[in-house]
Amino acid sequence: MIILEEMLVDLLGIQLTRKQVDAFCIYERMLQDWNKRTNLTAIHEAQEIRIKHFYDSLTCLKLIGDSKSTLIDIGCGAGFPGIPLKIVQENIRLVLVDAVRKKTEFCSALAAELDLKDVVILHERAETLGQNPAYREKFDWAVARAVAPLPILTEYLLPLVRPGGAALAQKGRSVQTEIEQSQNAIRLLGGKLQEVLEFELPMTHEIRSLVKIRKITPTPKIYPRKAGIPVKKPLS
Ligand code: SAM
Repeated sequence: MIILEEMLVDLLGIQLTRKQVDAFCIYERMLQDWNKRTNLTAIHEAQEIRIKHFYDSLTCLKLIGDSKSTLIDIGCGAGFPGIPLKIVQENIRLVLVDAVRKKTEFCSALAAELDLKDVVILHERAETLGQNPAYREKFDWAVARAVAPLPILTEYLLPLVRPGGAALAQKGRSVQTEIEQSQNAIRLLGGKLQEVLEFELPMTHEIRSLVKIRKITPTPKIYPRKAGIPVKKPLS
């Protein structure tokens, strides 16, 4: 884990404890192990897992200040970014959501192995949860990495955020076009673009962006629309 530890201290100012390093070792091993049987992620090699999954997930901490936040990770796949964030910020109350059962099964097995507290894992679609009163407008943060273009993603995330909270989208380079295309969607859903951070992922020369959208007013009841509609007819 040495590469991850050094990068976190140098670039994010985070010093991992022994327990956190052990947790990332278990995560890496389980991910590689499950990946042999079922296709969870395209990244298999240890160094890539540490940089492109663990480190990349933790860059959200550049914007997520409060360690006691409630956070929902939509389209978490094998737990990114939610589980690395939970390992480092133990007090986060986390909900992980994915539409594919084998991915939520992996997250459940990992959360049990790491004995993570205050974690709920749901095999569900974002559009369904966004209309469920138990989840709608309940979160300080709704986050997503590599799930959908921004005009669609805002319809998944913003209905889940409480007014005053924020949606956080992890994106690659050239996010400006997506932002321009999602201006109207953000406004319709009660949001306001607050901040875009662009940086290079260490040792890769790959550009990443963090897009923070603050929730200003409650989302109108009609959003999110039924499952599949945001993809078929993105808000424009
Ligand atoms: N966030 C993870 C990561 O960065 O490694 C996984 C990214 S993967 C490319 C996209 C994930 O989003 C898939 O696991 C897919 O099942 C999930 N997904 C896509 N649309 C969704 C929706 N409407 N509701 C819930 N999950 C969704």
